[in-house]
Amino acid sequence: MGSPMTEAANKPKEIAEILLDEPTLQSRIAELGAEITRDYQGEELIVLCVLKGSIMFTVDLVKHLGLRVAIDFISISSYGAATKSTGVVKMVKDIEEDIKGKHVLVVEDIVDTGLTLDYLKRSLSMREPASLKICSLLSKPARRKVDMEIDYLGFTIDDHFVVGYGLDYQSFYRNIPYIGILDTSLLDE
Ligand code: 5GP
Repeated sequence: MGSPMTEAANKPKEIAEILLDEPTLQSRIAELGAEITRDYQGEELIVLCVLKGSIMFTVDLVKHLGLRVAIDFISISSYGAATKSTGVVKMVKDIEEDIKGKHVLVVEDIVDTGLTLDYLKRSLSMREPASLKICSLLSKPARRKVDMEIDYLGFTIDDHFVVGYGLDYQSFYRNIPYIGILDTSLLDE
């Protein structure tokens, strides 16, 4: 695991600030895993990774689940400008598992306006899962447009555009092992 010192030293110049370093992310994810394990004790769980932003989070989270877990993937894309959600959502890749009668945990990277998850929750509910809960690494409540209950939340953050640990800007920065604030001057290009 990289120390915050190493992360800072290797930081690309477009990352204005490291908001959540690797140890901070990992210890919170372990806590979330323990909480989810307690809540679903004795049950089977379908963990639904929302591509692509949640890949890192899902991979690390499932290692902390002491349950029978199936992992599936869904890909949705929202139309509109690169850094703003429009709420108009398209399903790019659907789930392979039949979720009817199953416990489903949707794993998201970040809830911003809440419009994407609101759409996803409504469309998954129609398939009649036994339960449907949301786990999100990050939440930006300042920008919320719809009421969205997040059952398991990693961190609440201020209204910054963040990248790293799965989160991208124009498809890049997903591989960075921490969450950083992107220099906003870059966003105007
Ligand atoms: P919402 O529909 O809640 O406004 O937006 C959710 C999606 O917008 C997230 O899953 C993510 O893909 C994208 N998003 C929202 N805020 C950020 C951010 O700060 N950084 C990045 N990279 N993506 C974001």
